[in-house]
Amino acid sequence: MYAEVLIEYSAKAIDKTFTYKIPDNLKNDIKIGIKVLVPFGNKIINGFVTNIKDTYEDTFALKEIDSLVDKYLVLNQELMSLGEYLQSKTLCTKISAYQTMLPSSLKVKTQKTDYSKYLTYIELNQNEMDINEYIVNNPRRKKQIEILNTLLKTPKVLKNTYDSYVTKQLLNLNLIKETKEQIYRLTNQKITDKKAVLSPDQKKALNSITLNEENTYLLHGVTGSGKTEVYMQLIEKVVKQNKTAIMLVPEISLTTQIINNFYNRFGSDVAIFHSALSDGEKYDEYLKILRGEVHIVIGTRSAIFTPLQNLGVIIIDEEHSETYKQDTNPRYHALDMAAFRSHYHKIPLVLGSATPSLETMARAQKGVYKYLSMPNRIGSSVLPKVEIVDMTEEMKKRNTILSSSLKNKIFDRLNKKEQIILLLNRRGYSTFVTCRACGYTYKCPHCDITLTYHKTSNNLRCHYCGYTVIKNDTCPSCHEKSLADYGLGTEKLEQEINKIMPSARVIRMDADTTRNKGSHEDIINRFKKHEYDILLGTQMISKGLDFPLVTLVGVINADATLNIPDFRSGERTFSLLSQVAGRAGRSKIPGEVIIQTMNPDNFTLKCVSNHDYMKFYNYEMSNRHKLDYPPYYFLVSLKIASKDYELASKEITKVKNYLTKNLDSNTIILGPTTASMFKINNIYRFQIIIKYKKDSKLFLVLKELDELYMNNLKVNIEIDNNPLQV
Ligand code: ADP
Ligand code: ZN
Repeated sequence: MYAEVLIEYSAKAIDKTFTYKIPDNLKNDIKIGIKVLVPFGNKIINGFVTNIKDTYEDTFALKEIDSLVDKYLVLNQELMSLGEYLQSKTLCTKISAYQTMLPSSLKVKTQKTDYSKYLTYIELNQNEMDINEYIVNNPRRKKQIEILNTLLKTPKVLKNTYDSYVTKQLLNLNLIKETKEQIYRLTNQKITDKKAVLSPDQKKALNSITLNEENTYLLHGVTGSGKTEVYMQLIEKVVKQNKTAIMLVPEISLTTQIINNFYNRFGSDVAIFHSALSDGEKYDEYLKILRGEVHIVIGTRSAIFTPLQNLGVIIIDEEHSETYKQDTNPRYHALDMAAFRSHYHKIPLVLGSATPSLETMARAQKGVYKYLSMPNRIGSSVLPKVEIVDMTEEMKKRNTILSSSLKNKIFDRLNKKEQIILLLNRRGYSTFVTCRACGYTYKCPHCDITLTYHKTSNNLRCHYCGYTVIKNDTCPSCHEKSLADYGLGTEKLEQEINKIMPSARVIRMDADTTRNKGSHEDIINRFKKHEYDILLGTQMISKGLDFPLVTLVGVINADATLNIPDFRSGERTFSLLSQVAGRAGRSKIPGEVIIQTMNPDNFTLKCVSNHDYMKFYNYEMSNRHKLDYPPYYFLVSLKIASKDYELASKEITKVKNYLTKNLDSNTIILGPTTASMFKINNIYRFQIIIKYKKDSKLFLVLKELDELYMNNLKVNIEIDNNPLQV
């Protein structure tokens, strides 16, 4: 028997299958989709079996498959075709498609690692009479006798209960033997958590979703409308049919609360899957899924690839979230992958959000998606009152960070023992450091941006490449003592609050305070327990969190996201601010939101303050229409990257000419221009944007271009289908 093996090799060019002989000892285990190790050149490398055949015409020089990576690591038929779909959507190599679909920890180098975790037990290995005889004949071996006596009463005991030298003696005498049992690192118990009695809106939404039928639903529910309860009861229905469910959540900081809700209700029927798990934990959770031991998977983007059989529903919570698109190769969107699986299994796909992406809402409006709406919060809770504060006026009063209104309201909540969330979408202390004497500004030598000052570590850092430099007392250029920092980051905000309200207990959550495993959960749990009064942080505090005591939300600088030059910045700002506003007043006490801005008349901010999604949607859709942007047009961004500026510039012009010659005449080709992050890590990037409605040649042409640069070691091409940023 012979196997066609798709091999993983670091050179870009190799993305094809090679035929290997299947050795006799592996005949029963080799299947299509399994990961194997094969000899290639003088190395042993990873591969996937893509086909098995009985005959092969030229067996002369064939090598044999070396071994299996893990007998459980098999992509089933559905996932193999999903891999092909992923490849067609992103133009990645087939091997990287398959590789993406398996947990990265399971990517084996040349050495095999066994991730399985075992408990070792000891049990008797001889009959009772022989054991008793030993006990009688060795009265002074007290420790050995103790173990034997215990094992006469209980069939097995954990080996590490006893000193190893004692158990070793007994093992050597063959009086006892060792047994191993695989265990999972993560376990969870069901707490009898009662289902909520659904509100009329929730009931209507739930009943509108038809199981066992392929449909995509948009569940448009305002913050606090109780979407999670709908998800849970929907999943319960699916599990009752003995089918399975995948629920995607946008990021790990949100998973804590949702995972707890699901654990409490469904107990060990839930596996979780996200990047913050250790390799071993990931392996265990993957095994639970493969072995069919769980019905429910909750996880971030890559959980869409988990090998659940017999799927009954896929739910994508906070569907507008940009984390669902992978921003490195292969640049896939989880929603596309979910649509494929929903089609494959003929099952519902539910997209939930308070602020759906424009693309999704447009499809709902056209009737492509079924629209379900939950316009009210649960119970007596109402959406918070939002006030926009004009910071140009506050500046005149020398309130540069906190307006008087926000300051007063914070004091008020502190007095009432309520909690506050402050959003500032910039980490670090200040955003740049400049010399007031000569104008020198600290910049990254490798990238095209200014360095951010971090006061705690007294250094300046590049947030793109990680370059770090100590801040001097004097200007590195003119040596005057006149360095000043401008712009506001979370560190400085924290310091300011500590200064003006020293009794307030403040906790900061941003990429700098959440580097360690478990730190997200820790911050969230401690804030929930009211060990802190104020939670301040970047966008990671904006979504999904449910703290009943939070009655005030402050947005320190709404312009930070609004002023980014990207056609989606309005949409991003609307959703970020609506989400963070949605953290306020989620229980009985009504909430309030303060948005600080230099642009108080901005239309997007006005829509946020009126909680008017549809008004924003219509306004933004007309902008997109005028400018030929999505959802009216599809976009592809194409970048040429190289360390050599001249070369990159020359190649992008060639690409442009090629596109112009080969694409449909209705397709719009913009550029070339320098990319928005022009230089990162000493690599220069030029960009072309392609806008199209229908172009049957486009993907073929892109594929050709991609292949053209495959062997070019000096120039890289990056193709992004439906890019989030342009
Ligand atoms: P969303 O995800 O839509 O923002 P959540 O699912 O977090 O809203 O629900 C908001 C709050 O309402 C949660 O504390 C949740 O436990 C509670 N809740 C949801 N549904 C009900 C219900 N039917 N009855 C009572 N409380 C509910
Ligand atoms: Zn840099």
